[in-house]
Amino acid sequence: MIMQTYLIVGGAGYIGSHVVRALLASGHEVLVLDNLEKGHRQAVHGCEFFQGDLGDRDLLGRIFSRHGVDCVMHFAAYALVGESVEQPLDYYDNNTGRTTRLLQAMVDHGVGRFIFSSTAATYGEPGRIPIMEDYPTLPTNPYGRSKLFIEQILRDADAAHGLRYTALRYFNAAGADPSGEIGEDHDPESHLIPIVLQVALGQREHVAIFGTDWDTPDGTCVRDYVHVNDLAQAHILADQRLQGGGTSTVYNLGCENGYSVKEIIDISRKVTGHPIPAVAAPRRPGDPARLIASSRKIRAELGWRPQFGDPTSIIRTAWNWHRDHPHGYGN
Ligand code: UDP
Repeated sequence: MIMQTYLIVGGAGYIGSHVVRALLASGHEVLVLDNLEKGHRQAVHGCEFFQGDLGDRDLLGRIFSRHGVDCVMHFAAYALVGESVEQPLDYYDNNTGRTTRLLQAMVDHGVGRFIFSSTAATYGEPGRIPIMEDYPTLPTNPYGRSKLFIEQILRDADAAHGLRYTALRYFNAAGADPSGEIGEDHDPESHLIPIVLQVALGQREHVAIFGTDWDTPDGTCVRDYVHVNDLAQAHILADQRLQGGGTSTVYNLGCENGYSVKEIIDISRKVTGHPIPAVAAPRRPGDPARLIASSRKIRAELGWRPQFGDPTSIIRTAWNWHRDHPHGYGN
């Protein structure tokens, strides 16, 4: 392995902080840029930290001129489907506009490799399951569109400037590093697994199930949950491929298994030993009924294998974090 220098944009956030940890464990040099709007300074250890915005070209210029950055990994996005429906312009500004400025700064300073956190939301309501990378991309919400625009911009930037990239379309990131030192901490929390675990901690009375009349086996939405450390390994493999001269591409990142909201609640009851009351609630705007990945491409091309392939082990690691940090990084 040749040591590389990475700039991790959004490295103080949930997924970014797990990637930082994995890169440091592999012996690389890591710089983190995060504006701490959503991220947590306490989530980042053992590397240089810059507090600032991904759209700040002066700051990016200073970082790129002073450090020989080989590759940028970009996690600093707004990522809530429901919020994106209510505040689409914020999503296009942050996820699309400011990301474009980051790409421009990379081109200006000759940084040639980019790993992009894309999303299953780029597919919208898929016609067939499991979803392959070449299926139509017809997002049902502004979040998915804001990410799909960047995928399209990346194709153009590669053609014009030779900026090679890998877009990783995450399905549902979940879990926490088994060390228990870093984990998921959003305020307010909107994701299913942390909310369910907050009920188990006594911080909420119940979990609301957003829709029980979907066209799925038990009427609740089905998602493909993938452990955050397995996502992190995929980033390392994806960049190794680019280092070896690989061309720009897109990979799905999911475990190829779908679990319904009700199934996730049931598994969480078993993991936590708490009854976790659940109540039916209206559908959440922008939600597709079922998202399940085919990860055949990344398995075949990069040898990626999830280490936490089932939701019980994923939820166990999340519970380990939430139980020991009931108020996240605040405690
Ligand atoms: N969900 C739910 N209640 C909640 C939070 C989420 O029923 O309090 C559902 C949501 O509608 C979706 C699934 O759980 O079908 C996963 O949602 P999450 O927000 O965790 O991730 P997303 O799929 O939006 O990326």
